[in-house]
Amino acid sequence: MSLTPLDEAILWAIAVSTAYITAVLAKKLTEAEGMMQFGYSFFLLTVLAGMPAAALGYLYVPNFIGAFWAVWINMGFMAVGLIPMIYGFMLGLSDYSGANRYAKIRLGSWPWVRWSVIFLIILNEFMMGWAFLLVNGAPLVTGQFTLVRALEGFGSIVSSSWFVFSMAIEMGVSLFLFRKSFPRTPFFILVLQALIMMLTPTAIENSAWQEAAIYGSSIAMTVLFIILFDYLYKNNRLNAGFSNYIVALVGIYGLMMGGLFAWEITGDTVVFSVAILSEMFLYFGMIIRDKRFSLGGSRHWLLQPWWAFGIILTTFVSEFFMGGVLDLQIEGVNAFWGSINFASVSGGLLSRLSALAYNFLIGFSAVTGSEWFLIMMGLEMGTLVALKIRVAREFETKVRLALLMVAYAGYSVILPFFIIPSSELPRIPWVGWSMGIGSSAALAPAFFVGIAGTYLVSGSLSFLFGARQLCSVVCTAPLMYQGTFYDSMKTFNRTSRLGRKLLTSRMSGIYKVTLTAVWVSMIAASVLSYLNSVGMVHVSVFGVDTTQFMYAFYFNFLWYIIFISIPFVGTYGCVTTGMCHWGTFNQFVSRFGFFRLKVKDREVCRQCPTKDCAKACPVGLTDMPGHFIAKGEFRSSKCCGVGDCVTACPYGNMYMYDVRHWIRERLGRPLNEGMLQVQKVGVSTRPSVRSPEGRSINARLDDEKVA
Ligand code: SF4
Ligand code: SF4
Ligand code: SF4
Repeated sequence: MSLTPLDEAILWAIAVSTAYITAVLAKKLTEAEGMMQFGYSFFLLTVLAGMPAAALGYLYVPNFIGAFWAVWINMGFMAVGLIPMIYGFMLGLSDYSGANRYAKIRLGSWPWVRWSVIFLIILNEFMMGWAFLLVNGAPLVTGQFTLVRALEGFGSIVSSSWFVFSMAIEMGVSLFLFRKSFPRTPFFILVLQALIMMLTPTAIENSAWQEAAIYGSSIAMTVLFIILFDYLYKNNRLNAGFSNYIVALVGIYGLMMGGLFAWEITGDTVVFSVAILSEMFLYFGMIIRDKRFSLGGSRHWLLQPWWAFGIILTTFVSEFFMGGVLDLQIEGVNAFWGSINFASVSGGLLSRLSALAYNFLIGFSAVTGSEWFLIMMGLEMGTLVALKIRVAREFETKVRLALLMVAYAGYSVILPFFIIPSSELPRIPWVGWSMGIGSSAALAPAFFVGIAGTYLVSGSLSFLFGARQLCSVVCTAPLMYQGTFYDSMKTFNRTSRLGRKLLTSRMSGIYKVTLTAVWVSMIAASVLSYLNSVGMVHVSVFGVDTTQFMYAFYFNFLWYIIFISIPFVGTYGCVTTGMCHWGTFNQFVSRFGFFRLKVKDREVCRQCPTKDCAKACPVGLTDMPGHFIAKGEFRSSKCCGVGDCVTACPYGNMYMYDVRHWIRERLGRPLNEGMLQVQKVGVSTRPSVRSPEGRSINARLDDEKVA
């Protein structure tokens, strides 16, 4: 049956009022002082839930018997609702002193009571959405019952406007009622949760709404992550409730985005609906608490690698699917998904397994290499870098951070994907060749000059200014590693087992093996690609050129695996493991060029009690103070010129040296490095020059551990 606008308006009036009343009841239940107070509100909540349940009974059997069942269903709900009141009354009768007429109970102190209230709230909205969809003529779970049909029905209800909009209103009203109970950060996170619920793309079958909702929810989710990460950067101690909530929230958003991705491709809403329901439980679990929300606590998240890993992994999953959803929405499902060169899974077991592994890798790489994924990552990571610019002390560091943001946008996102059509990319080698190799096409003779030019230009810059021109500016990796939140995780370089093996400027066994394997595989892939392009062999990986495949494997897959493993590998894993051939090429050249770190006074380093430069290095080059004391300078092929060590030195004793200094020295006009006077340190002298950035979480953490 189709509804008139008036019918629809009446249904929406019912939905909105129910959402409002439910939110008010939730507040009353949370603040109930005794069992009887609690019982009244609980009874009203069950009456509210009983109404759509009864309506459903009648809608499925629209006759006298259905009406009979509707009455009984309603009475059943009311009977359950009376239990707390009867219990409270009985307790009151047995309290002969009369001093405590009704047993005192705090809702939140009994978790099962709290969860049953949350369950009732969500059940109420679910049944109302179900009933309203039936009234609208939706064929929900009619005919023979099967699990598939039940799941489809579940997905249709939860992803419908009746459910999500009502829930969003309920979230908003309850948050308004509880607004004074939350500190600022959790309050904003809850506001964004309500907003994301309102911006559910599946709610309205209209392409304009779907598009607007996908953009809107992606932006809201990105803002939520930024707020969260900024909070974590500034507060390293959390209580159990808040830290569990954060992990659960980001995990649910990962599931939600995965569900949306599946919905874009298949039209199925089950996974998405499971995520929505989980989010509801989490949200109301947070709102309805016995103790008011408190921040701070004894858990130091930087000392919990698995917790940190959970946060990075779930954030990555959310952003991965968010980028994928945007790709599908903007480019179209057929254009994007259909363009991926999936292999058919057939043949023997080995063929099937390799085809499956290949399909996973190529599908994964298609998203991580796509412009919208990079844009989403860039927006989030770029904001964290912008926050770091605010606290950076040296002007040069600010400029470098600004440059890397510009480079990320220009070199990695805007130029290759938006301005230059991909068909033209091979003609512009510097832009088209990411990581110094033909990533957009096979290695054909026509590209040799371009590739050689790429190596020459980049190598020359590294010789003159150090590998920082690449690893701290031009590459996309520094944007991801150098934002406040991710940078604060450099403490894992020294606390994780693998990270410790990769510390210092020495080349560990892992480094040598990885470096060799990467270079051998890249050269082999390039040779095969070349021979293939001139028709001497016919080799490909399921039809994909070998260099393109290796590029996808290393930079669209393995790089991200290393990135999300920061708590076990440390930061700048691409440098410390030697997995990046392009980075190692430039770092090797840099080692023999002009770039190095110098100190103004070796004696200051000898007496320095903090060695903050070593603690601040995101690559884990902890041996630099020893080099400063011995030689007054430090050169390492792993040093990629981030400069955090310079910022962290409490005596302003360090500076970076490159070809500019060399030229001025030859001209007899040495550069005046840093306006700060080096402060001599004695045994009892504390450093007076403090770096807000360098001595943030990591140095404090080290001090705490020492204490
Ligand atoms: S090592 Fe490679 S991936 Fe890492 S920052 Fe340098 S160029 Fe980028
Ligand atoms: S923190 Fe500064 S003074 Fe201390 S060892 Fe490092 S460079 Fe030298
Ligand atoms: S030693 Fe200093 S400049 Fe080199 S990578 Fe570490 S922090 Fe950056």
